[in-house]
Amino acid sequence: MHAEDLSISDIAAQVGTPFYCYSTDTLIRHYNVFCEAFTGHDFLLCYAVKANSNQAIIKTLADQGAGADVVSEGEMRRVLKAGIPASKIVYSGVAKTEQEMTFALEQGIFQFNVESEPELHQLSRLADSMGKTAAIAFRINPDVDAKTHAKISTGKSENKFGVPWTRAREIYAAAAKLPGIRVQGVDLHIGSQLTDLEPFAEAFRRIVKLIEQLRADGHDISVLDLGGGLGIPYDRETTKPPLPLEYGEMAKNIVGHLGCKIIIEPGRMLVGNAGILVSKVIYVKQGENRKFLIIDAAMNDLVRPSMYDAYHEIVAVKERDGPTSPFDVVGPVCETGDTFARERELPDLAGGDLVAIRTAGAYGAVMSFTYNTRRLIPEVLVKGGEYAIIRSRPDYDDIIGLDILPEWLE
Ligand SMILES: *Cc1c(COP(=O)(O)O)cnc(C)c1O
Repeated sequence: MHAEDLSISDIAAQVGTPFYCYSTDTLIRHYNVFCEAFTGHDFLLCYAVKANSNQAIIKTLADQGAGADVVSEGEMRRVLKAGIPASKIVYSGVAKTEQEMTFALEQGIFQFNVESEPELHQLSRLADSMGKTAAIAFRINPDVDAKTHAKISTGKSENKFGVPWTRAREIYAAAAKLPGIRVQGVDLHIGSQLTDLEPFAEAFRRIVKLIEQLRADGHDISVLDLGGGLGIPYDRETTKPPLPLEYGEMAKNIVGHLGCKIIIEPGRMLVGNAGILVSKVIYVKQGENRKFLIIDAAMNDLVRPSMYDAYHEIVAVKERDGPTSPFDVVGPVCETGDTFARERELPDLAGGDLVAIRTAGAYGAVMSFTYNTRRLIPEVLVKGGEYAIIRSRPDYDDIIGLDILPEWLE
């Protein structure tokens, strides 16, 4: 198995396992297919950096011209540091604090995607007191079912995100009267890992009607942020999500005539398939009626299977012929939830063999944690025949050293 021109086994021998490995080529290819899908339109791709916010990943996309969708001050600092200008940053999230808004106003970001009336008033007060104007869009909750996992569905009326589409005109009218606020757009994001175009289309049609009404009400709506959410084939046998080109055609057909600057905020689609998690088999354990493949990666390194019941393909790094048999692929953490796959058909693997968990570039490393005092795992970026460690494995002292003994215990 190779990442671009390099053998995964060779990288594993040098870096040690487990580790994430990303391909520069794939990242750039994914960025380009989205841009091609929207050629002919005033268009900005704002990469949703929460999917993978490593500086090297952001910089790779920034160098291609990408903007960023951020959800915290920390992410804003990350993208600015990686070279994305404030003029290409949109800021989403239901809980922007005073401090975070102040930072964003100082930087002069392109757009706040406002998610509630209290947030609007807070932003107005702050911007006015700083002598600044905040360019805003409201994130509209269109109340459509994204038909994805409940934990990553965001566009139903019962979800915490956005303002209800039924109240949008009233809220825009209020915003237009506030100091420090300039209404410029409409935003939505209905969920993640959508594998069907219809929920997008339904939401976009609702938004088109809304924009026509808002314009009739006298608002100058020049930006339409369609959010992210396009799914990827975690299981290539059963899932065939629409291609970016098809997504772009659908979107242009529905919203193109509005003449808005179109923003999209893909995260997963850009980085998911650009990354794998490489892990080593520690033991093969024969249970009473199942075989466990115990590997050195765990739920703390890639939480998606335990958190979202996510499916990831798992393959032997050294391809081998011969019979397969079902394994439960599990990690070392003391939780039954620390399971990557159940009854997965795999070749006859043994301790020391390498496996790759595929499609792990999105919501992998960024969601990792140190449960069981396990060290965060390295991230490696490959470019052609070269690789670089873009996040290193910390020392145990780095983790344990975060604890502070109170005086009375010293
Ligand atoms: C998470 C998120 C995205 C990206 O979603 P993907 O499914 O990774 O494309 C885009 N916009 C907002 C507001 C988000 O919260």
